[in-house]
Amino acid sequence: MKFKHMFKRTAAKAGSVNSAGNLFAARQPEVPDGLLKKCNSCKSAVFVEEVKKNYYICPHCRNYFRVHAYRRIEMVADADSFEEWNQGLKTENPLHFKGYEEKLEGLREKTKLDEAVITGKVTIGGTPAVIGVCDGRFLMASMGEVVGEKITRAVERATEEKLPVILFACSGGARMQEGIVSLMQMAKTSAALKRHCDAGQLYISVLTNPTTGGVTASFAMLGDIILAEPNALIGFAGPRVIEQTIGQKLPQGFQRSEFLLEHGFIDEIVERENLKEELGRILKMHAVDGAVKGKSRIPEKADEETSQYISEEKPGQILSEQCLKNDTEQSVKNDGEQSQSGKTETKGMNQIGPKMSAWEHVQLAREKNRPTGKDYVNLLFTDFVEMHGDRYFRDDPAVIGGIAMFCGQPVTVLVQEKGHGTKSNIEHNFGMVSPDGYRKSLRLMKQAEKFGRPVICFVDTPGAFCGLEAEERGQGEAIARNLYELSGLKVPVLSVVIGEGGSGGALAFAVADEVWMMEHSIYSILSPEGFASILWKDSKRAKEAAEVMKLTAGDLKELGIIEQIIHEEEPLNRENLPEVFEDLSRKIQHFLEHYETMDETALVKHRYDRFRRM
Ligand SMILES: [Zn+2]
Repeated sequence: MKFKHMFKRTAAKAGSVNSAGNLFAARQPEVPDGLLKKCNSCKSAVFVEEVKKNYYICPHCRNYFRVHAYRRIEMVADADSFEEWNQGLKTENPLHFKGYEEKLEGLREKTKLDEAVITGKVTIGGTPAVIGVCDGRFLMASMGEVVGEKITRAVERATEEKLPVILFACSGGARMQEGIVSLMQMAKTSAALKRHCDAGQLYISVLTNPTTGGVTASFAMLGDIILAEPNALIGFAGPRVIEQTIGQKLPQGFQRSEFLLEHGFIDEIVERENLKEELGRILKMHAVDGAVKGKSRIPEKADEETSQYISEEKPGQILSEQCLKNDTEQSVKNDGEQSQSGKTETKGMNQIGPKMSAWEHVQLAREKNRPTGKDYVNLLFTDFVEMHGDRYFRDDPAVIGGIAMFCGQPVTVLVQEKGHGTKSNIEHNFGMVSPDGYRKSLRLMKQAEKFGRPVICFVDTPGAFCGLEAEERGQGEAIARNLYELSGLKVPVLSVVIGEGGSGGALAFAVADEVWMMEHSIYSILSPEGFASILWKDSKRAKEAAEVMKLTAGDLKELGIIEQIIHEEEPLNRENLPEVFEDLSRKIQHFLEHYETMDETALVKHRYDRFRRM
């Protein structure tokens, strides 16, 4: 790290305004009053005050300067909310390493820190959380027994007090001077986090530059949600060690945050100035009664409102603006009775719209301008926080997933995304999901289960991706695993087929309590082309195949494969989607109201029976 000449000699404590002036105290006499410093990245002269006000980011090149632990806490926590825990712990110098204690003493003197991590409790955006922040000035924030102990105590107390944990990693890894005892801290911190996780609590890991070695291989990578600052070095082995071992230079960007995002290991890269807001948003979404499973998580007020809605004639007026933006009188005119399961059904729904051939449905489902999953996410939900990666290999852009708010409650949303326009189609692989995409979706479904959030899936895929790499990484296993795990997921699952529901690739998103279809979507064992090719050795007979396959929403409702058909304005496009969305939104509310009141056992049994009948 070359920042050492920049922000050295800090004596700042949280909340201490006066000490801030010392933060950039000039070390070299030629720089007057510490007003100007040189950026280590772009070599420009920067005003210290400006940098401080700008989240310690270079105004010229946006290089991220190292932030001291107390400063970091000030930057993300609500003012004066920090309460420090477990100060003054000291290492016993387990290896009796010569000169180690003197070195620590010197560092304590110099940094005014007692060790390389600060822990305690804060509130962020009003939500309480336990926080731990590494400080790189203290032996590269390597994890000796005190660091391990402080983190473990903080996590244990968070478990006890049912609080989320946020850990800011910035570390060289294990602490050599403490040898095997340092190594054990990896296991100790991980074990504490496992208990915290099993208690249903949230852990957010924030990776900053650099996060390496034993810290990466323990607490840093174990977050339910892993955020990273841009361009942070994150890896197990350091780049220099790798280069020496393999005898070649590493490519540009190797082991940086962006590289990790692409390879599926982190959820999101967050700019430093947005970090407080993002943490606050995520914390808030997890603060909603997550521990009580099998009970309705719709706030009582909303419950009242919704049931009131069911019995009244003008429902739109009492739904919150967030749920229905426009006046809904028009959209409810078609609604009939309330079915036992809470569904609102329109009479003769199977026959809505003019009669069309199956092939016409196929064409509409594939229509270029048809809204894709992303459009549904934008219209139906607010506060969408996108999560990336399967934590194994890659982030599959054919699947978009994350947490969002729906009528005041958090839900996990998963969409198969085809993209709009050629460039975007290619980017999203035309909605053809790879094993990594199924594994990402499964990760997010399990996360939803942990936090008691319903899962809402939007299905739109011609089929699972067919290719060499997909087979190498176990496409079949990935789909099977989804069917297996979804069948027993202890939270409500709704799937809506919005375009093409092709084969097992679609089913992996549709082992749900209810499956609905947009009026002109299709859902089938495979594409009509594939069907014709296999049965008649002639893919040109796709049109004929479509007619016999029973792939339209009407046919599938009759067969009992799906529960609801959502009426479409035709042709469905991004402009008229809002009209459809009103109806869909209301139906989703009913769905949640019904299924969230079921206890876990009844819910899973209902899902089991649903498929058992087929
Ligand atoms: Zn710069």
